[in-house]
Amino acid sequence: MLKKLLGLSLLLGTLLVSGLAAAQGATKVHWYGQAAFKIETPSGGVILIDPWLKVPSNPNKNSIAELGRVDYILLTHGHRDHIGEAVEIAKKTGAELVAPYGLQFNMVSVLGYPEKQATGATGGNIGGTIKLPKSGAKVTLVNAAHGSDITTPNIPAPAPGGQSAIHGGNPVGYILQIDGGPTIYHTGDTDVYQDMKLIPEFYKVDLMLTCIGGHFTMDPARASLAVEWVKPKQVVPMHFGTYPILAGTAAQFKAALDKRGIGNLMTEMKPGETRNF
Ligand SMILES: [Zn+2]
Repeated sequence: MLKKLLGLSLLLGTLLVSGLAAAQGATKVHWYGQAAFKIETPSGGVILIDPWLKVPSNPNKNSIAELGRVDYILLTHGHRDHIGEAVEIAKKTGAELVAPYGLQFNMVSVLGYPEKQATGATGGNIGGTIKLPKSGAKVTLVNAAHGSDITTPNIPAPAPGGQSAIHGGNPVGYILQIDGGPTIYHTGDTDVYQDMKLIPEFYKVDLMLTCIGGHFTMDPARASLAVEWVKPKQVVPMHFGTYPILAGTAAQFKAALDKRGIGNLMTEMKPGETRNF
């Protein structure tokens, strides 16, 4: 009898714990490759960041066709490996464009992003916070030390007498605060810079998604210093391996973090993988 009662109370305890977890809901983070992520919030919202879903490292060639609801697309800067298929996805899903003002302007004027989905409600600039009510979240734009000219396949390559580079606002990173979920820092493309020390003054970052590939951004050693300054609970490396020139590896990043005594923070994801946070 006692055993039965014990078993019953254990079962009830398990049900209670799993019920609580379901009530709070997990935040799902899916990595397509390069800097492209899909984030599903506990309230059912869907946010894409830098949606290059056709990135060669993405094992799923039907990712765009399989997209259901998308509430917002966040772009960190204008380079083609970050704009990706944003316009195509916006037309298919009605997603609103979150971007620095100059980039948002030219995404509409030059690339044809639907203007009703790219208004002042979701355009911003560094230091400002934008509400994302459809997804139960808000997002703050922070610095990124990079460039932001708009470069996509339908803009001609540089040539004498050819078209000028197209302005794309300031490059940014994003601090995404999810109601009932984690605070996520997507660095965009950047070097490590001193003002990253400001981030933990304002936010407790649960998950940092950081570029490590080198050549165009910080490499694993420099990115490990960024992690030390930002103080996240977990860090996932990105923006490496897509091309041979992005030569930084997760193993090098782990070794660099280990040297600082924070190697335990790293979680490695593979393109095409989804994890709950
Ligand atoms: Zn990039």
